[in-house]
Amino acid sequence: MNDFRRDPAEVLAELERLRKGDAPTHGGRVLSYVYDSGVAELDELAAAAARLVQPVNGLDPTTFTSVAAMEAGVVGFARHVFHGEAHDRADEHADSGPDRAEVVVGTVTSGGTESCLLAVKTARDAWRAARAGTPRMPRIVAPITVHAAFHKAAEYFGLVLDLVPVDPETGTLAASAITDRLGDDVALVVVSAPSYPFAGLDPIADVADACRRRGIAVHVDACIGGFALAFWPDALPAWDFAVPGVTSLSADLHKYGYAPKGVSVLLTRGRDRQRHQYFRTTEWPGYPVVNPTMTGSKPAGPLAAAWAITEVLGEHGFAALSAKTARATAALRETVDGIEGLRVVGRPTGPLFAVATDESVPEHLRVDPHHWADAARGAGWFLQLQPGLVQSDGTRLPHTTHLTITPVTDDVVPELADALVTAADAVRGVPKVDGALVLAGLADAVPGGIEPLLAASGGIDSDTAAGLLGAIGLLGDESGGLPAQMAPVLALVEALPSELTGRLLVELLARVVEPKG
Ligand SMILES: *Cc1c(COP(=O)(O)O)cnc(C)c1O
Repeated sequence: MNDFRRDPAEVLAELERLRKGDAPTHGGRVLSYVYDSGVAELDELAAAAARLVQPVNGLDPTTFTSVAAMEAGVVGFARHVFHGEAHDRADEHADSGPDRAEVVVGTVTSGGTESCLLAVKTARDAWRAARAGTPRMPRIVAPITVHAAFHKAAEYFGLVLDLVPVDPETGTLAASAITDRLGDDVALVVVSAPSYPFAGLDPIADVADACRRRGIAVHVDACIGGFALAFWPDALPAWDFAVPGVTSLSADLHKYGYAPKGVSVLLTRGRDRQRHQYFRTTEWPGYPVVNPTMTGSKPAGPLAAAWAITEVLGEHGFAALSAKTARATAALRETVDGIEGLRVVGRPTGPLFAVATDESVPEHLRVDPHHWADAARGAGWFLQLQPGLVQSDGTRLPHTTHLTITPVTDDVVPELADALVTAADAVRGVPKVDGALVLAGLADAVPGGIEPLLAASGGIDSDTAAGLLGAIGLLGDESGGLPAQMAPVLALVEALPSELTGRLLVELLARVVEPKG
């Protein structure tokens, strides 16, 4: 006997039906968002571990001591594989005497964004502490390819984000582009290992060396690449704590750590530096609030899953999975290299790459990467469209299509390669969607025309934004999903003022979760 309104089994059945509408999370058909090890046993392990700690509150590791043990385990594993142990450092006496403060410590967070946010908050507060009374807003210097999480961090924590251009052809960063912009107001320099948009491994040693000389903190965003690159079969330049000037590093366990979503690690060199990460207050009548992450009460499930996976896999298991990923990545890059009209952008490092139009061939042989992605999607393969972007120096980064390769991809390489070739054949010679034309087409569908909206930019109300979304075909559709053709949508993103695009996307995301009726 209970007071339930619905039968739990029936509710679960409904959820199963809802899940059928999701993009497939397993099997390698979605080349972003999900990181499938292809090992069913690891998924079972993660679920079992998470279930064991389901009632635990990760807020307090002194009350729930399993949390402290697991967090220390995960941080220890990360510190080891990212060369943050004392014996990894050039100065072998670093762990004794006055340099003892340089030990690498860490925190498990809810994901890459939280790791990046906390890296910025920590750097900001360390910068402020060293300059008591300085009213200035500190700067973050980073390449334009840095993850959007740092845009969010700058906005949330009140820093200026100074984005430097990369080579528009290859997406690569010159160290001097960063070092030319250093100054006393720089609280943090961020480099990536590798970057999300083009998978460039930034010149971390050169940047970190210059920053170390000037006492400027350097964060390596290895959110996506970290747990893959640490075991990558090809030799790579040093990119982690083996580089002396690196002061913090983020790496997501819910990416190439194969854990379910909600877990990442932020490592920081120096206990005293890391203590700036903590929030603490005893100035309220409740329990003392002292913690290193943004949330209060938090789940221990993702941590437990990540801990169990690192324990079971160990370095050897990670290396085997990285080897599969590397093999699949190489094979698919070769496939794309062989497709007339497309090119892999720059020199990608690790398990991801971006694909652009090869403009060295005549127009009728060129392949637009967004039409290509749409054609592949028609065949059941989800590639990620990335818009083009004008940099601060006026050069234009091309619009591209992004592929993130996971261990499971290795099992479907022939099928996927076939699909990529077939999709290119289907759209070769079809020009990029002209955003200006799409915009002109919209003018008729929008009452009052498009001009007032362009003038108002982001300053439109919710109903006006929804009306425009409806005219674009992004709202009002019963299915609630994305349209079959994304190329025109991305063309619009490029053509509209970014403030207006931003406002429209806010409306789209907000309306998607609004209760119906
Ligand atoms: C995924 C990613 C992030 C943000 O991580 P989330 O887990 O999505 O919050 C940050 N940086 C890079 C390079 C990433 O790929």
